[in-house]
Amino acid sequence: MEQYDFETTAIRAQMERSQNAEHSAPIYLSSSFVFETADAMRAAFNDESDDFIYSRYSNPNTQELVQKICLLEGAEAGIATASGMAAVYDTFMALLAAGDHVLSCASVFGATHTIFTKYFPKINIAHSYFDADRPEQIEALIRPETKLIYLETPTNPAISLIDLAFVAGIARQHGLLFVVDNCFATPYLQQPLRLGADLVIHSATKYMDGQGRVLGGAVVGRADLVREVYLFNRITGASMSPFNAWVLSKSLETLALRMDRHCENALFAAEALQDHPALSQVSYPFLPSHPQYDIARRQMRAGGGIVAIELKSGYEGGKKFMDALRMIKISPNLGDSRSIATHPASSTHCKLSEAERLRVGIGPGLVRLSIGLESKQDILNDILQALERAA
Ligand SMILES: *Cc1c(COP(=O)(O)O)cnc(C)c1O
Repeated sequence: MEQYDFETTAIRAQMERSQNAEHSAPIYLSSSFVFETADAMRAAFNDESDDFIYSRYSNPNTQELVQKICLLEGAEAGIATASGMAAVYDTFMALLAAGDHVLSCASVFGATHTIFTKYFPKINIAHSYFDADRPEQIEALIRPETKLIYLETPTNPAISLIDLAFVAGIARQHGLLFVVDNCFATPYLQQPLRLGADLVIHSATKYMDGQGRVLGGAVVGRADLVREVYLFNRITGASMSPFNAWVLSKSLETLALRMDRHCENALFAAEALQDHPALSQVSYPFLPSHPQYDIARRQMRAGGGIVAIELKSGYEGGKKFMDALRMIKISPNLGDSRSIATHPASSTHCKLSEAERLRVGIGPGLVRLSIGLESKQDILNDILQALERAA
């Protein structure tokens, strides 16, 4: 494809038309594909072939989606997976072996944390956590058996930022793989591969779909690493369905447009809330008061759609705030056209001790707001009236 800007690529990167000359890509709901001859099938099983064989391996719709995400992230290669967690797990299983050690940012997605703490010990893979606010801790935590550095930025749910170029430098210097979960920022706002990451992981369930309909994931980046992840995925079966790939490919056509509005609405809310008397903190990457504002300006195009607020009234106040919301829904999801609120201390992170929560920046009154695409004034009004009733 010709070199186009992000918005154009997201719309114009699509599979070749069939003999029906359709304008919009069709869905290929076919579990397998047929061959003219035994020799043709033999050739398809050659490792270098990209013929379609079986939809657990790949499919025209998943291929279209993957090619689009690769263009948007600046990646050599990629694969689509059934969910974001399949992308995370496939990556670890494909690239790590018993005895290896992983260094990860302490504030990672809950299910990723569970892989580290519950399932890795079973297969003798060790992990250490560094604090998102102190990436300078990383070097001291590197061991001879360390294989990979893993992180998310902005972090969930506290919205801390990690300097990607800085961590990439450490990874390069020590010969470690560097993997970034870029789900919160999307390739529109941040492109970790261009800053030195080896692989980028996505939960496409979030902003890529953006309308709360389908699950999906992707791993994109260095071709030799993606190949290993692909082989693991095609054997173990967490493949993306062609239908979900079709939905997601359409969704990407509006990603830039949607992200612009998510960012505009979130910045509006963050600015309006930052001096609110009921709040002790408002965390948003593009607020100059954010401790890593300089990093945000350097590595992100805009601040994203998530705002974290800390209620002075603590745990009970946080729950009261949630119950007082009228339009914004209580849900663990994020990155949707509909605004969503989550109170991590009473929900997604309730199994952690208070000390563990504080380590990852989750105070008792922290509420994560996934700012949607409704009118920014309606969103703010709902937050303000709920704050008044929760104080
Ligand atoms: C949701 C999420 C995941 C997991 O994605 P699923 O599609 O739900 O499996 C991983 N990382 C981050 C940062 C997420 O927000």
